[in-house]
Amino acid sequence: ERMVEIRQQNCNPMTMKVTYYKKPVFIHQGHMQWLWDVDGRRYLDLFAGVATVSVGHCHPKVTAAAEKQLRRLWHTTNIYVHPPLHEYCEKLASYFPDPLKVIYLTNSGSEANDLAMLMARLHTGNFDIITFRGSYHGGSPQTMGLTSNAAYKYPIANGLGCTNTMCPDVFRGPWGGSHCRDSPVQTIRECSCAQGHCMANDQYIGQLKETFDTSVPSRIAAFFAEPIQGVGGAVQYPKTYLKEAYKLVRERGGLCIADEVQTGFGRTGSHFWGFQGHDVIPDMVTMAKGIGNGYPMGAVVTTPEIAASFAKGVHFNTFGGNPVACAIASSVLDTIKEDGAQQISLNVGTYLMTELAKLRDKYEIIGDVRGKGLQIGVEMVKDKASRHPLPPEAMSEIFEDMKDMGVLIGKGGVYGQVMALAPCRSVLFSWRVVATLQATTSQVRFHT
Ligand code: PMP
Repeated sequence: ERMVEIRQQNCNPMTMKVTYYKKPVFIHQGHMQWLWDVDGRRYLDLFAGVATVSVGHCHPKVTAAAEKQLRRLWHTTNIYVHPPLHEYCEKLASYFPDPLKVIYLTNSGSEANDLAMLMARLHTGNFDIITFRGSYHGGSPQTMGLTSNAAYKYPIANGLGCTNTMCPDVFRGPWGGSHCRDSPVQTIRECSCAQGHCMANDQYIGQLKETFDTSVPSRIAAFFAEPIQGVGGAVQYPKTYLKEAYKLVRERGGLCIADEVQTGFGRTGSHFWGFQGHDVIPDMVTMAKGIGNGYPMGAVVTTPEIAASFAKGVHFNTFGGNPVACAIASSVLDTIKEDGAQQISLNVGTYLMTELAKLRDKYEIIGDVRGKGLQIGVEMVKDKASRHPLPPEAMSEIFEDMKDMGVLIGKGGVYGQVMALAPCRSVLFSWRVVATLQATTSQVRFHT
């Protein structure tokens, strides 16, 4: 009865927020890239629970690892060490270059970013933090301050979702398009680079310098950047931007933090971590989502030196590093390797981007196709010349049509104008995706 009652409402029963769809979609089963609703309809899942189910829904190997651990031990406190914790931390550390070798386990991405903020402030003795326009770093009161996307903030006392003292400086950096990318497709916003010299890069670096001079002179604790903005709509930076930005931040005593909550675990295809695509080594890396293939977990990886500043206090987390989470996460790392998930990201991602670029060239309402590996954004616009975002009603039509055709996708971008594709890295039927997009875009064009 409760189910029937909820299904009649136009909302997500968990958060009571309106979903993308006219009616809630009730998912009750998943297998690899497929989801089934309570009526038995099958969907191709191209969003993977917001880029989270990294190797496939209920992947048999990961499920077996969870089952095994559930029969042995569910929980202890972090007063004790248990084999899954030990084994996992050693394994995860081996995926990082020196000196990133100290690991703290959390339950979510927001918690990981909260912890990273705290550690950066303790280590540097500074307070201010810089993030990007369009960024998303979490929904806890502290990380809501980091998140610059106003859609995820609440108008509460003294600011939007944060008090002024907690609110980091939001830096107006790269947004709305890609510039010098190493992706196989061109954007409509052509990069105005002369050979070997990127004008967009100069502009953004200039803005960063200005932010330092005007807002945070010599008091910076940290610079947070997603290697590719996820919720912001698969936004990429000019090629050398992060490297130059890291240098400026470090010159001013700040720490550089890579938020790999979406980009980590091989999602970008060419590298295991997004930061590796920028030729930088961060001082801290935060992660969640793909770490547990959908099981709640997060982590912060940092250096022994930064960890030492943090060790002055007592940090306690009841569930962080839970035995079941560690057993699952360990199996996820093995499965990524065995299934070639990073290679799948690269191959399928390159294919999808290439095919989507053909649609972009054909249709006036596809303004940009961008991203890397299987973190792809398709920006929908009124027309290519103005590049104004496609209105929310038209975006809703796309989501509705695609759902009716059996394909679930995500939404990104400051105006919700970006179709986000971030599927699990299991065997995908790319042709079906492209065909569906083709059909959907022509329908939407007709409507508008
Ligand atoms: N950072 C990024 C880049 C994210 O995309 C998200 C979630 N969308 C978070 C942090 C917050 O993670 P969580 O929802 O697990 O708290």
